[in-house]
Amino acid sequence: MARKIGSRYTANQILGRGSAGTVWLGEGPEGPVAIKLLREDLASDQELVGRFVQERTALLGLEHPNVVSVRDLVVDGNDLALVMDLVRGTDLRTRLDRDRRLAPEAAVAIVADVADGLAAAHAAGVVHRDVKPENVLLDMQGPLGPGGSHPALLTDFGVAKLIDTPRRTRATKIIGTPDYLAPEIVEGLPPRAAVDIYALATVLYELLAGFTPFGGGHPGAVLRRHVTERVAPLPGIPDELWQLIVQCLAKAPASRLRASELGTRLRELLPLVTGMPPLDVDEPDAEPAADEAPAAEEAAPAGERVRRRGAVPLVPGAKPADSNRDTHTSMRVPGPDELAGGARGTARVPRPTGAPRPGSARHRAATRRRRVALGAAAVALAAAAGVGAWLVASEDDAGATPQDSNSSAPATP
Ligand code: ADP
Ligand code: MG
Repeated sequence: MARKIGSRYTANQILGRGSAGTVWLGEGPEGPVAIKLLREDLASDQELVGRFVQERTALLGLEHPNVVSVRDLVVDGNDLALVMDLVRGTDLRTRLDRDRRLAPEAAVAIVADVADGLAAAHAAGVVHRDVKPENVLLDMQGPLGPGGSHPALLTDFGVAKLIDTPRRTRATKIIGTPDYLAPEIVEGLPPRAAVDIYALATVLYELLAGFTPFGGGHPGAVLRRHVTERVAPLPGIPDELWQLIVQCLAKAPASRLRASELGTRLRELLPLVTGMPPLDVDEPDAEPAADEAPAAEEAAPAGERVRRRGAVPLVPGAKPADSNRDTHTSMRVPGPDELAGGARGTARVPRPTGAPRPGSARHRAATRRRRVALGAAAVALAAAAGVGAWLVASEDDAGATPQDSNSSAPATP
């Protein structure tokens, strides 16, 4: 069921469906291409079409081995399409779903590739704004790199920005994917290059651990964690690599590395992780069996107990299928009441395999022993991490900079 796209392209077969539209395997004057046909509601938005044309030059100018180049932008009747380089392979989400966790060597090599691609984009003044495994394509026809990984290419440049028109995102709305959103975006600051570094460090953590550092449960809880919680250590990775992750997950954007430095540092660290098997950590969000459910008073310190998939939408009426992984989930900054009722003390602490599962009898016994200490720590953390900054951000419809927000303290201990 081939269809014409503009005068130069033919879309032949669907390669995949995404949140912004459908990607087709197509044919152009210079051979096979991938064509992303934007969703109808996006394509019929005049403001967006204008922006699409405006962004043309920036999008078309980006050429790097680790970037999926946009070859052409087509506005044709009701069609709005991005013509891209065709990558024969799979996206990183599919790989992660299959393998659950990657060997550290492959994870580091893939993320170093993406960092190099980001460096080129940032040098050209383009911020990606939606770095996540779904937007990393692995080129199966490229040469095998460290850890048996294929070259990684970042795709979907500029798509988040195209969709982020003033009308679509009023000051209190957020566009992005909750798990990968930098704290400054949650606080209403304009996205700069450092948001991509934060998202990429989140991806690296996820490739290593099998889960994101702040994901899980209600999107509002996820957003709050980005601002207030400290990343839980991953047992078993070299300290240098861990420090790099922590630095790039810093709450303060200025404390994060630049993309080019991140790429260089990761490649330097590769020898440290050569041949290492995937980490042996369990996702901390396992739902306890009904008969093991902890007493309510123990629930808070016991860790995240909400399944990450099928998350509750933050905006009433939003489809639950709008999962935390979707880019264009319509979200707003949570209000003070939502935050107060949100998941307090839900830092997702990875546990080594064999450690008691949150909510189990063995875990409850250990929890009781630690409860006093944890309670005190939680109070201190909440105070130090600046729930106040949240309130400032969420009450400030203009999205002005919350000055002196103490949430910008670096994540390092
Ligand atoms: P969205 O960002 O709108 O959610 P994606 O860009 O992730 O959509 O595209 C959906 C799917 O299409 C991807 O998972 C991937 O399998 C495929 N795809 C996207 N871009 C390309 C490309 N340049 N080459 C090959 N396949 C692609
Ligand atoms: Mg995408």
